[in-house]
Amino acid sequence: MIISMRLHATREEIDSVCERIQESGYKVHTIQGEERVVIGAVGVGDVTACLESLQAMPGVENAVRISAPYKFVSREFQPQRSRIRVNGIEIGGAELVVMAGPCSVESEAQIMETAEAVARLGGRILRGGAFKPRTSPYDFQGLELEGLKLLRKAKAATGLAIITEVMSDGDVELIAEYADILQIGARNMQNFALLKSLGRAQRPILLKRGISSTIKELLMSAEYIVAHGNPNVILCERGIRTFETETRNTCDLSAVPVLNALTHLPVVVDPSHAAGKRSLVPPLARAAVAIGADGLLVEVHPSPEKAFSDGAQSLTIPQFGAMMRDLAPYIELWKASREAA
Ligand code: PEP
Ligand code: MN
Repeated sequence: MIISMRLHATREEIDSVCERIQESGYKVHTIQGEERVVIGAVGVGDVTACLESLQAMPGVENAVRISAPYKFVSREFQPQRSRIRVNGIEIGGAELVVMAGPCSVESEAQIMETAEAVARLGGRILRGGAFKPRTSPYDFQGLELEGLKLLRKAKAATGLAIITEVMSDGDVELIAEYADILQIGARNMQNFALLKSLGRAQRPILLKRGISSTIKELLMSAEYIVAHGNPNVILCERGIRTFETETRNTCDLSAVPVLNALTHLPVVVDPSHAAGKRSLVPPLARAAVAIGADGLLVEVHPSPEKAFSDGAQSLTIPQFGAMMRDLAPYIELWKASREAA
C-alpha cells in the first residue's frame, strides 16, 4: 500500500498513520518528498480493512494498493511520467537528452576536447568514468579524484552537466560533490549497500540494467533507491548477455516500451555498451529514439584507437556529429509524439 499525505499534513497526523499501519502488521517506509510525505506499507495483512481505515484518517490524501512488487517506481503509484531536473535540463520531459563522452577520463586534453565537441554538436551532459569497473585487475582503473577534477574543469568550460560512475558506497559523497548525476554501472545494479546509500544522495541516479538482469530486477533495484529517500532515478538499458556473439551484448530495445508501461521513471538507452562496435551505435541510437527512449548515453573519444577502455565502441568526434545530424528527423518525430501524448 502507498499512502500519500495531504500537502500540509501535521506531524501528529503522519505519526498516527504510521502507527495504524504498524498495528495492522505492516512495516512503514516514509519518504519525505519535496512537497509531501508519502508512506509505503509493506508486508502481509488484511489489505482491504487497513486501506479502508487509512483512507478515513485525518491528513490522508489517498491510500492505494499496489500489486507490483516494486511500489514507488510503479505506474500504479504515479501515472504521470517523472521528470528529472538537472542543470536546467529535464530528463523525461519535452527534450530528448544526449549524454556523451569517453568511457574513461584519461587526460585534460582528452576530456576538454571531447567536452567541447559534445557541447557544440548538441549533447547536453558529459559522461566520463573516473572510477572504472574493469573485468581485469590489470586494466586501467580510472584517474579517480584527478578524473573528477578534470570533469569539473570540463563543466566550467562548456556548461555541460556531468555524469560519472560510483562503484562503492564509500565514494558516494565525494563523487556527488563533482557530478550532477551518479551512474551506477551494470555490475553494481544489485549492490544493495550501494543502492541504499544512493537513497541518501542529493543527486539524480542513472541506474544501468545488470548484464543478466530482468526488467523486474532492474525495477526492484530502482525501488531500493527510491524507498531509501531518493526519487530521482533514471533507468538505462545497456544491453544484456545472450547467446549472440556478433555484438558485445544484445540491445533489448523492447525494454523501453515495457518499462514505459510499468514505471513512471525515465528510460535512456546506451547503444555503445550494448553493441560493443561503433558501426552499430548510430542505427541503435535511431531505433532507441524511435521506440520512445528519453535519452541516449553514448561513448565518444577524440582518438578511439588510443582509448584506455572501450575504444572499439567509441565514436570519433566526426562520427558523433554525423550521428546527431542523422538523428535530427527522428528527434522531431519524437517531440511530436511527446506533445501528442
Ligand atoms: C560505462 O558506462 O563505461 C560502463 C562501464 O558501463 P556498464 O556498467 O554498462 O558496463
Ligand atoms: Mn565504457
